[in-house]
Amino acid sequence: MRNLRINESRIAEDLAALAAITDPGRPWTRRAFSPRFDEGRRWLAARFQAAGLTVRTDAGGNLLGRRAGGAGLGTILVGSHSDTVPDGGRFDGVAGVVVALEIARMLDERGYRLRHDLCIADFLAEEVSVFGVSCIGSRAMAGVRPEAWNGLEHEGRSLAQAIRDVGGNPDLGAKAEDIRAFFELHIEQGVVLESGGTDLGLVTAIAGITRIEVTLTGRPDHAGTTPMGYRADALVAAAALVTDIETEATRLAQMGSHFTATVGEFSITPGAANVVPGSARLLIDARAVERPRMEGFIAWLQARMADLPAGIRADHRILSDNAPVPMDPGLISLLDQAAATLGASQILMASGAGHDAAFMARLAPAAMVFVPSLAGRSHCPEEFSEISDIALGAEVMAEAILAFDAQK
Ligand SMILES: [Zn+2]
Repeated sequence: MRNLRINESRIAEDLAALAAITDPGRPWTRRAFSPRFDEGRRWLAARFQAAGLTVRTDAGGNLLGRRAGGAGLGTILVGSHSDTVPDGGRFDGVAGVVVALEIARMLDERGYRLRHDLCIADFLAEEVSVFGVSCIGSRAMAGVRPEAWNGLEHEGRSLAQAIRDVGGNPDLGAKAEDIRAFFELHIEQGVVLESGGTDLGLVTAIAGITRIEVTLTGRPDHAGTTPMGYRADALVAAAALVTDIETEATRLAQMGSHFTATVGEFSITPGAANVVPGSARLLIDARAVERPRMEGFIAWLQARMADLPAGIRADHRILSDNAPVPMDPGLISLLDQAAATLGASQILMASGAGHDAAFMARLAPAAMVFVPSLAGRSHCPEEFSEISDIALGAEVMAEAILAFDAQK
């Protein structure tokens, strides 16, 4: 057992208390903008207050707790998100919010006076919300939440109104100006740490995500009368394309940096047993931490689509294309030193999932600490991380925050 300043049982209690705030009969569901989410927020705000923090909701709808520093050097921001996916887990996001709170409490208890303000954050709606968009709060804080999103509607309520309902103000700029560093602890949501027996992952970059819609058009024909050699079957061509995407993505992933490509949506028309498929639509989600890798994949895909069986035509549309976001080498090195000091094993790794840190990196140096996920499961009720692993990650993060604060 390590001798930690971080209080493990308080982390366990907070996680359990938030887990109990779930839609009845649907563990664990606390989606942004739902009554359950508001209840979780009220609980958190009270907890922030009890820790002596000055609590407010910013214009972007983020719940913030501030601890004033001594030297007016700006703010060290620490946090994550308390919203969940439907039928999700108890740790995704929540672990990072609870850890931020525990760090604030620990600093107080142990009499650490920081030169910077410390602000802990529960970012609004990190997960894809009922409005179909994600990272609403961190985008607002980074000054990049699209205006047009205000008009998005769900069950007769606009996103603008929903932001007002959580205490934000969609008409005001929400960009934070004084952030000097951002830290986020998050569960890994994959198997790398657990399978390697590693305590912590220090995130080097958050993958860029590119989504490409491909439509293959062939010719619908009678399934019984059209001989096998005379068809333009869009599904057969699409199936071969999907297999080749898998092969190419595997090849790119073996080149040494994180790369994935997934066909997660697939449909054919007309979709009848006795009709040769006339068209197929697929949606590719490709993720890379090195931009040239993504460009290589797109070029490969375009060449592949030019090489189709006779009678099949391909069209494609890039629906979204976000660049990878590197984390800050200076903060990574502070975390690395802290891990060494505390005897925690760590590896450098990329994040294949998106996080609020990707938006905070637009404002200030940003870094993330991953803790192991049991069997890599996440976004499901089985999601689990050991409290001792979370506490160790918190301790390393606290140490790095102290080191950052002491820097000239
Ligand atoms: Zn998350």
